[in-house]
Amino acid sequence: MSKKEPKVFIYSLGVIERLLFLNVYPKKGDYSSQLLYEALGAKLLTEEERRDIYQIKQIADCECGEEISFFEGEKIPDCPNKCLVKPKLNGRISWRTTDDEGRQIPDEKEVTIGEMAHHNITQALRELEEAEELNPSLVSLYRKIVLNGTKLESGVDDITLMGIPKGKREK
Ligand SMILES: [Zn+2]
Repeated sequence: MSKKEPKVFIYSLGVIERLLFLNVYPKKGDYSSQLLYEALGAKLLTEEERRDIYQIKQIADCECGEEISFFEGEKIPDCPNKCLVKPKLNGRISWRTTDDEGRQIPDEKEVTIGEMAHHNITQALRELEEAEELNPSLVSLYRKIVLNGTKLESGVDDITLMGIPKGKREK
């Protein structure tokens, strides 16, 4: 018997989709699953992409209204207005879309993942959907990965005409 070629899945993912992928992807597991997660992290967003190309930063809010951005792994800086209370993370991030010469930085990148990673991310996204915890920023990732790029699984062309609550839809 010949050995089966490992199945691969290729997706074109934008910066926010790649970040959400890593955010949603299950993080607990055995040692080999940790190695897989590390490798996915390095593939979806290389260190160079994170720090030099996109310059992905976290944002903290100060009570005075100042927004302070800083690289992941760094301590939250003090407010430049010398406020005494430490600024607090607000969960948002920022990244560069144009380079120093004002040219557009490509957002999407083709990413190839194997069956294990595909299974895990699909499951995680399905669980969020089941729990009704999808949100607008997760929808494009859900479409690409779970629905394979299709917009609707129900066959309804105009979703605004859909009137039956989810729980009552026939499976
Ligand atoms: Zn301040």
